[in-house]
Amino acid sequence: MKTLVTGGAGYIGSVCVEELLNGGHEVVVFDNLSEGHRAAVDPRARFVRGCLSDPEDIFVALEASGADAVLHFAADALVGESMKDPGKYFRNNVANGLNLLEACVRAGVKKFVFSSTCATYGTPERVPIDELLAQRPINPYGESKLIFERMLEWYRQIHGLEFVGFRYFNAAGASERFGEHHRIETHLIPNILKVPLGQSASVSIFGTDYPTPDGTCVRDYIHLKDLADAHIRALEPGRMGFFNLGNGDGYSVREVIAACEKVTGKSIRVLEQPRRPGDPPRLVAAADKARTELGWAPKVNRLDDIVASAWEWHRRNPDGYPD
Ligand code: UDP
Repeated sequence: MKTLVTGGAGYIGSVCVEELLNGGHEVVVFDNLSEGHRAAVDPRARFVRGCLSDPEDIFVALEASGADAVLHFAADALVGESMKDPGKYFRNNVANGLNLLEACVRAGVKKFVFSSTCATYGTPERVPIDELLAQRPINPYGESKLIFERMLEWYRQIHGLEFVGFRYFNAAGASERFGEHHRIETHLIPNILKVPLGQSASVSIFGTDYPTPDGTCVRDYIHLKDLADAHIRALEPGRMGFFNLGNGDGYSVREVIAACEKVTGKSIRVLEQPRRPGDPPRLVAAADKARTELGWAPKVNRLDDIVASAWEWHRRNPDGYPD
């Protein structure tokens, strides 16, 4: 298919672009490089530097690409930041996303694949989380993604724009070529790996008094290549709706640190800190719907393997991308 990928220079987008190209799809990457990196764009893709805040920019790029499908990764995605600056999240994730939806309708795009999040569930009533659970976000990031999910439903009903929305759990790991480089890193695994890389003296644990077995937050880590595989399946005809994407295994912050110690062979100093506002205690996916309806099954199931792929990339690229 001909695809346009927003945020294709970002962490998850870059690996999805790589896998789309490996699968024989054509890709135009649309990215303003505010978070992404030019060097993270697969050289086989065409790159357009543009911003979703400009409806005309998007429309021109879409028309020129002749895209049948749009994959929308571009977004702000930090829980902590959203609790300090909610406006940024509603502007970028809702208002700018709306510009993209409108352009898709105008350009006759057939399929829309959206990066949503388990943060739309808030503090879930039960774990593992399936798609039927009530969505009650507890931070503006999750709220902004939920609003966009709702918009998608209306655009399907009214304009016939088919969509697949993926509720990612914690994206992690790297491909051989592309990995995680945020200019300001807030994510757990890359922050831990900074210690064995010699770039930090210690890693902070945000909260040790959660109602979890060891008091730290539990998350479900899912490898980027498995996320990418789901996106490629989403492009097949007839795929529709919202799907959780996770491994179904929960690991606490302390367990992730232990996995990083095992993989790197170095001991990692921790600093226990207060809770980070907006963090639910436990988020673990029931991803049966994606398994049944998309035939999807994660291949990188072990946390050690996910961490090992991240470590490999960071060791080879200790300063991340050059730009
Ligand atoms: N976390 C932590 N130390 C860090 C970064 C994150 O203890 O340096 C915790 C964070 O509070 C959360 C979990 O690790 O409970 C995963 O956080 P991350 O930012 O990686 O992903 P999120 O779940 O917010 O999408």
